[in-house]
Amino acid sequence: MLHAAELPVPEEYATQVAQDANTLLAKVAGYLKPEDLPLLEAAFKFSAECHKTQLRKSGEPYITHPLAVADILADHHLDAQALMAAFLHDTMEDTGVTKIELTERFGKPIADLVDGLSKLEKLEFQSKEEAQAENFRKMLMAMARDVRVILVKLADRLHNMRTLSHMREDKQKRIAAETLEIYAPIANRIGLHAIYQELEDWSFKYLHPMRYEVLGKALKSARGNRREVVSKILDAIKHKLGEVNVEATVYGREKHLASIYKKMQEKHLSFSEVLDIYGFRVIVKDVSTCYLALGTLHGLYKPRPGTFKDYIAIPKPNGYQSLHTALSGPYGTPIEVQIRTHNMHKVAQAGVASHWMYKSGDDGVSDVQQKTHQWLQSLLEIQSMSGDSVEFLEHIKVDLFPGEVYVFTPKGKILTLPQGASAVDFAYAVHSDIGNRCIAVRINYDLMPLRTTLKTGDQVEIITAITARPNPSWLNFVMTGKARSHIRHFLKTMRYEEAVTLGERMLNQSVRALMNQATELPAEAWDRYLKENAPSRRDEVLADIGLGKRLGVVVGQRLLTLAGLLLEGEANSGPILIRGTEGVTVQFSRCCNPIPGDPIIGLIKQGQGLAIHTHDCPQVVGRNSKFDPDKLLEVEWDVPIGKLFDVQIKVLAMNERGALAEIAASISDAAANIENVRMDKDGDGGDRYTEISFTVQVENRQHLARVMQALRSLERVVRIHRLKGINSHS
Ligand code: MN
Repeated sequence: MLHAAELPVPEEYATQVAQDANTLLAKVAGYLKPEDLPLLEAAFKFSAECHKTQLRKSGEPYITHPLAVADILADHHLDAQALMAAFLHDTMEDTGVTKIELTERFGKPIADLVDGLSKLEKLEFQSKEEAQAENFRKMLMAMARDVRVILVKLADRLHNMRTLSHMREDKQKRIAAETLEIYAPIANRIGLHAIYQELEDWSFKYLHPMRYEVLGKALKSARGNRREVVSKILDAIKHKLGEVNVEATVYGREKHLASIYKKMQEKHLSFSEVLDIYGFRVIVKDVSTCYLALGTLHGLYKPRPGTFKDYIAIPKPNGYQSLHTALSGPYGTPIEVQIRTHNMHKVAQAGVASHWMYKSGDDGVSDVQQKTHQWLQSLLEIQSMSGDSVEFLEHIKVDLFPGEVYVFTPKGKILTLPQGASAVDFAYAVHSDIGNRCIAVRINYDLMPLRTTLKTGDQVEIITAITARPNPSWLNFVMTGKARSHIRHFLKTMRYEEAVTLGERMLNQSVRALMNQATELPAEAWDRYLKENAPSRRDEVLADIGLGKRLGVVVGQRLLTLAGLLLEGEANSGPILIRGTEGVTVQFSRCCNPIPGDPIIGLIKQGQGLAIHTHDCPQVVGRNSKFDPDKLLEVEWDVPIGKLFDVQIKVLAMNERGALAEIAASISDAAANIENVRMDKDGDGGDRYTEISFTVQVENRQHLARVMQALRSLERVVRIHRLKGINSHS
């Protein structure tokens, strides 16, 4: 029992607030456990304290709002946790109470519910597109996780709609539109019929005030005139059912304003045409009586062909069950009748969640997963008499826990991505150019790695750079086919472009060597060459050269011959210059690890480009060489541009503590990176010496010489040499 004096509410309102709160407590005492009541009281008092300086737009103390929200939910018999969350639903958002504080005071389940509600509060629906509205609804459902969050949210919205007159007109319109597009359909989807209708009616009132007023007046007078007809049909139905001993509650059903308006719009009907349809509801004790009542009514009035629907055998996705039939009444007036059991009626009014609501109050289970499971289980029970319960359950599951995430673009558009999608997937979903050029991402305004997995509700902003390119490593984490295929395509194109560039350079070098000077190849020569050869484009020929599918020297010779600059058979090619930055088309062999300064030789590998070896690499020139000498190409180093090359060195050192550290320090002092170290225990050094193999990165031969010199100067280093021409990994 709450007393006005103890509430942190201005005196002139205190009596009313205390009275409303006590009425609510008395109401829930009818279905909750007695020990729940002090908890509810505590949550209410805490909320009143938090909001004590706030006023509603109406001038009333703010606490009247959470109180009204809880009251709506109490009418639907929601459990104590949900009602406490209703009291507290605006505290985090408006008064800065933290989740930690709520957890300490009221426990984690309550804090989770309030936190979920605060997150929904931050979402704002902006787009007008229908598809976007559907996405937004899914997003809300996905974010809510616990269906109670949605229920509290709907009650919150309902009370806000009831008190919308105190808002500014533009705000009224925006909130009404959002309610109509987002919240009313959700209420309908989960079967909260009464809330759905009221939300639609309020939205209609604020979106179309004139039409609402005119239609309302017309409806009022029309219903007055109809009353007689309705009661006549009502009596006839009751009488007929009584004859066959069917106990039934029968009443005339009135359509809500918004649905009459919708029907007029959709079916292009006039007001009187819509109103001519009389609706009745017959509620009986069990399923077989439903069918009995149906047969009886079909005997009373003639059924209209093709209008009978059996939603008992095949329920609607939201769990709704009834028999629907349309009859021709007296003077041919159309009559719509719904026949259902009391249980089905309860579900139809309160929604499928009602089963779960009624059951969950007494078990003390607080875990959301378990609650949800329980709820789904109860849905299954509702559905057990119908054949497609699995499909139904699947439907609900998909809606509440979709395998999708919904995220915002910076402009407020919602994108749907598969669960587990990364920022890169998002970038490609926006546009392939954004994907190809993305370098970083801001998620909820924080810079994050591109591999970050997105969560529903995230606001995602991709940062791009003109020069950026897709990274092959992205293929390890992207989820969407779109991202994957674009990355693959780009890498393939990039390889091709690199091959063209290299091929052109190789060709020019060949031509220069053949002519002893740089020589322009005339276009006519190219035209003739492309006519007599298979690839029809110059790029393809160049790519072939770059990839080692044809020799630059041979192509150059032919072109020069066609241009009349060279006589046939007058070949003499010079070396091709290698820079080390050609990309995938030039590979530095791992067997001998050539570095700038080493004499080198090129080996054309069919379809793979050019492999560079040292001139003395046994893999190529030794006794074991398996290579066709015709595939060998003369190559030389071009001016190096700072790329680092791997090289292997082996050090024999005294087996002393600190030797390795000293050697490593010396290598890095010489500005070389250590890529890999291997200690060779079984080396020929015995106990006194130890063999250490390093892979180090150097710029060129001079750099390597400096490194080796530095190592030689160490006292503990006995011997040092570079490994070359053996496969160091075998
Ligand atoms: Mn609120």
